Amino acid sequence: MALFDKFNKLIQERATFIQTELSPFGTRIDEIYSPTEGRIGECRVILAGTNNYLGLTFDPTCLDAARQSLEHEGTGTTGSRMANGSYSGHIALEAELADFFQRRSVILFSTGYLANLGTIGTLTGPGDIVLLDADCHASIYDACKLSGAQIIRFRHNDAHDLERRMLRLGEQAKDALIIVEGIYSMLGDYAPLKEIAEIKRQLGGYLLVDEAHSVGVMGKHGRGLAEELNVESDVDIVLGTFSKTLGAIGGFAASHHPEFNLLRYASRPYIFTASPSPASIASVRAALQVMIDQPELRTRLWANARHLHKGLVDLGYCVGPQVSPVIPVLLESPEKGMFFWQKLIKHGVYVNLVLPPATPSGQALVRCSVSAAHTPEQIDRIIGAFAQLMAEPRKEAVSNAQGAT
Ligand code: PMP
Repeated sequence: MALFDKFNKLIQERATFIQTELSPFGTRIDEIYSPTEGRIGECRVILAGTNNYLGLTFDPTCLDAARQSLEHEGTGTTGSRMANGSYSGHIALEAELADFFQRRSVILFSTGYLANLGTIGTLTGPGDIVLLDADCHASIYDACKLSGAQIIRFRHNDAHDLERRMLRLGEQAKDALIIVEGIYSMLGDYAPLKEIAEIKRQLGGYLLVDEAHSVGVMGKHGRGLAEELNVESDVDIVLGTFSKTLGAIGGFAASHHPEFNLLRYASRPYIFTASPSPASIASVRAALQVMIDQPELRTRLWANARHLHKGLVDLGYCVGPQVSPVIPVLLESPEKGMFFWQKLIKHGVYVNLVLPPATPSGQALVRCSVSAAHTPEQIDRIIGAFAQLMAEPRKEAVSNAQGAT
């Protein structure tokens, strides 16, 4: 098979989308006005699909910190953490995160994706066993593949299924790595972490929780789902990203295990890539402080999440099973997903379109993510746009729409 022939199916699918004025393959945001407003082509839109949970991308202290860093440290480190890419800011942020999460060690990575690759892929290898929730993020699957460990998937959010599979492992369960997420990125639901922690107490194993979508969102101090459910001491490794609540780019892993810090000397995704830019690190440090100092942002975020969730349920939409700032609207076909996504932009609302195979059982979903920076009036406008769509005929739907975003 010629090298590029494998893209033929994708080329066909993409052609279908490209004929339409608004394509989910590489949406161009032409202008950004604030954490919640931008322009796509002719359409001024409310941004309701950005993971910008506390709205900190335009926070004045974060902007100032990044500007200062740019002036004094330049645009990039041009090197790996192991070589010339560890500036004082990187080290300080590791210490600040260790303090915040109350963990002995924190290792920064260049993205959340690399944090998973660099942590899971280094800790486990051939001969090890990883038990992971079936709905885990692609970076977790890729990390497991990279590691060569035996992968055992358990049913999404089904603690009994996990327990059954661990019991089957017998003694081997003691050394297995269990991986779940705080808030799941597709359905916006959260892991039954109390039950999972109890299973770990009974049967052993190590527990890694990817809190990418729950840091700053859940827990009294914003440490995530484990804090919310009071099971932090059962979690061996916390994974996180700077690309959501903290409004920049980068990722981290935190642990209380004395040997954990050694991982940085063995982790190829840590060693063989350049470190996050100093300005990014400076803005994350400022964002972390804002997150700590302003718990009211979290209160506002949840008020907005409840407002939007209720509005969509009242309209009769099928939404995610639990209320959280990630609110998917489930639609029965890719065509309908595409129709909704395009029409919502025309009605002034940008959301994420998610199509099979990224969704289960051929469904599509348009995923809203709520921010503390949304005003109640903006949430009403998002609900209003969905209300308009209920009534509209679907003549603009694109046929044969397939493929994941
Ligand atoms: N883990 C989860 C659960 C995620 O949802 C994401 C991003 N969507 C990542 C990791 C990767 O984070 P990043 O964007 O920082 O690479």
